[in-house]
Amino acid sequence: MQTPEQEPVNLLNFDRKGLADFFVAMGEKPFRATQLLKWIYQEDVTDFAQMTNLSKSLRTYLTEHCTITAPEILIEQVASDGTTKWVVEMGLGNRIESVFIPEEKRGTLCVSSQIGCALACTFCSTAQQGFNRNLSVAEIIGQLYVAQKRLGENRRITNVVMMGMGEPLLNFDNVVAAMNLMMDDFTFGLSKRRVTLSTSGVVPAMNRLHAVCDVSMAVSLHAANDALRDELVPINQKYPLEQLMAACKDYANKGPRKHITFEYVMLAGINDSVHDARALLKLLKDVPAKINLIPFNPFPDSSYLCSSRPVIIRFKDILYKGGIITTIRKTRGDDIDAACGQLVGKVKDKSRRHLKLQQMGSSRAG
Ligand code: SAH
Repeated sequence: MQTPEQEPVNLLNFDRKGLADFFVAMGEKPFRATQLLKWIYQEDVTDFAQMTNLSKSLRTYLTEHCTITAPEILIEQVASDGTTKWVVEMGLGNRIESVFIPEEKRGTLCVSSQIGCALACTFCSTAQQGFNRNLSVAEIIGQLYVAQKRLGENRRITNVVMMGMGEPLLNFDNVVAAMNLMMDDFTFGLSKRRVTLSTSGVVPAMNRLHAVCDVSMAVSLHAANDALRDELVPINQKYPLEQLMAACKDYANKGPRKHITFEYVMLAGINDSVHDARALLKLLKDVPAKINLIPFNPFPDSSYLCSSRPVIIRFKDILYKGGIITTIRKTRGDDIDAACGQLVGKVKDKSRRHLKLQQMGSSRAG
């Protein structure tokens, strides 16, 4: 048990199981976990003294040793289409961004998993920021917690996509705990179909995910051959397409969900030819797939251009005729730089980027 001088324990860092273990370790019953989750996430109470179904001594203990501390919103920007971007403070000058995308029947929150990103995808502005650190569970679930508070009762967050800054599968444990929390009946109760993890293709982590957290999977594909994908999404050098496709098939076959969503950014003259579309069809022929074409969103100093509308439509038609459901992502919030690949936040001390890249290795793992 901790001494009073120790840092208070932030209870937003625990999912239900973690919280139950925490209470059991102090001699309390595990059901305290659900009581606490309800107070925090459903009753919006953060003052332990007001948690009337806990014993007086437990309330005193929690007040002395624990906190419920969510990250703070620094800036809020609302785009002309209603998309809202929040810049969220993560300490030591680091900032991340989360984005709310309202639609008629749903409201989607795009959540960040890391401060910056170590993956260096050439078309993504987050990559240009470098990498600082993983976000904690409290900082990930906290994005949902503060966003829902800001939006109020009338605008519910119905969907979460782990498509903000960072590579979620390189922050596996914290992202899994945070996603399990989002789906918990005593917190936000989101269904597993409404929580989507997007990955650039960290194959070993994809293989581990289903057993611990059964969410929908999106894969940032962007190229149908290894030579081009090695360049656009450098982690492909470590986990090439053959391994990636095997992991995708496996994930889709494990659950009742019927498909993996493949994201494909449309880069003029790079990956948007008729030949590329046919190669994509061939690559995905045995995978239960949907494709989401993302018009490239430019950012300062980016060297790519977005494919023209007719080229995107030609690409879509080839895929569609080939039997794959294909949609073109509507660009939302681009007037406030809130669109895909435009999230930059503020990353202090990027020196760890190279270290991380070395750890990931640059040669192909056979
Ligand atoms: N690292 C994860 C999560 C980020 S998701 C992943 O790669 O999946 C962000 C999505 O936006 C990814 O599909 C990414 O490839 C795409 N993206 C990045 N930069 C973009 C840009 N400039 N224009 C359009 N889409 C972009």
